[in-house]
Amino acid sequence: MDFRLTSEQSMMRDSVRRMVDADIEPVLQASDRTQALGKEQLLHIFRKLADFGLMAPRLPEAAGGGGFSMLDYGIMFEQIPPSVSMSLVSQDGCITRLFAECDEAQRARFLPGLIAGELIGCTGSTEPGTGSDPRGITTKVTRDGDMLVLNGAKMWVTNISVCDLVIVTCLDRTEDPAGQNIVKVVVERSRSPFEAREIDAIGLQQGLLGEAVFDNCRVPMENMIRSRSGGTQVLKSSWAVNRPLLGLQAVHLAQRAFDAALDYARTRTQFGKPIGARQLVQKSLSDIETAIRTSRLLCYDALATIDAGGPADGTSAMAKRYAQMACTEAVWQAMNVLGAMGLSREARLEEYYRDIRMIPIPDGTNEILSLIHGRELTGLEAIRA
Ligand SMILES: Cc1cc2nc3c(=O)[nH]c(=O)nc-3n(C[C@H](O)[C@H](O)[C@H](O)COP(=O)(O)OP(=O)(O)OC[C@H]3O[C@@H](n4cnc5c(N)ncnc54)[C@H](O)[C@@H]3O)c2cc1C
Repeated sequence: MDFRLTSEQSMMRDSVRRMVDADIEPVLQASDRTQALGKEQLLHIFRKLADFGLMAPRLPEAAGGGGFSMLDYGIMFEQIPPSVSMSLVSQDGCITRLFAECDEAQRARFLPGLIAGELIGCTGSTEPGTGSDPRGITTKVTRDGDMLVLNGAKMWVTNISVCDLVIVTCLDRTEDPAGQNIVKVVVERSRSPFEAREIDAIGLQQGLLGEAVFDNCRVPMENMIRSRSGGTQVLKSSWAVNRPLLGLQAVHLAQRAFDAALDYARTRTQFGKPIGARQLVQKSLSDIETAIRTSRLLCYDALATIDAGGPADGTSAMAKRYAQMACTEAVWQAMNVLGAMGLSREARLEEYYRDIRMIPIPDGTNEILSLIHGRELTGLEAIRA
């Protein structure tokens, strides 16, 4: 067992970090920190990520993807600011699902633009009335001649306000008016317009989180996804991957807060000494770094477990939940090291604290994740029981 990155992994991490500094941070800094990025800005960022193979990191190179191991992807992903990497998770999730479940003709129509970062995609499952329980959805697809007709609403969907296409999870009422089968339909905005808007939230305010209404939205028949065999396994592993990735978003934020706190502790003088010379401040810094390092290791371990083909539901759930909780406490402690300055907008730690508050919800709330982990430990179901 070797806990150090290989030289290749270090190089990948450093080159993504340089790209973030050169190409992503300037876009974020030139925009209002409290407003969602515009579509052009997100596309500009996506094209930069596409140059690194990061639009479709899970697809094999032969299919136009990055062909990365999930551990290597996670190491690079951690370098990207979460307001952007949440959009990447959505885009990557959309691409992975299309690749896993679409037929060749659909793949050829939808994938190239998304992989190149020329189009924005997302996946709409959550609705105003259902979140953790995906079986509770009420959006319906019916049939009118050779067109599909969608009716319903999706909420809390990353990228939906600016997307070019969205995979909508809905109840299949094309044959049976009382059907309860869940199917997925690709809605291309240019062919099948729908209303969508941003939702204002506590954190990740430059990110894109929105809601959409499908009101008799007419979609060509060929946009219905009929699952290919073998796709389910790819999808299952992609849910497991998202959780440690979101854990690494928490690590990213806590690392930034730690860097600011360490710098401040060395330079801020009180009672005739740098505050970093005080034992309690050193303990805070030690606690913060311990939280970051344990979180990072748990997330890397989950990703390495997925790469090795091992059962990863519990490990991935544990990694996201632990990283989010430990890193939230770490950001809070880092704010304290800066005293009043820690509360200022200028120092930006308050922004990290609000951003990290978003992470316990998507891809499994902390409660659901503890039950997924508990199910793996005991073999007993508690979520639906
Ligand atoms: C930043 C962000 C990005 C998102 N991106 C997307 C996206 O791209 N696409 C998409 O479809 N959705 C997305 N979502 C929505 C997200 O997946 C849902 O918010 C999530 O599934 C939780 O659903 P809910 O908010 O309706 O909470 P609910 O499911 O209503 O849960 C409310 C509370 O009840 C608890 N709870 C529920 N069931 C149980 C249970 N069985 N046992 C114990 N406790 C329980 C939950 O843990 C939570 O504390 C995103 C959300 C956020 C915040």
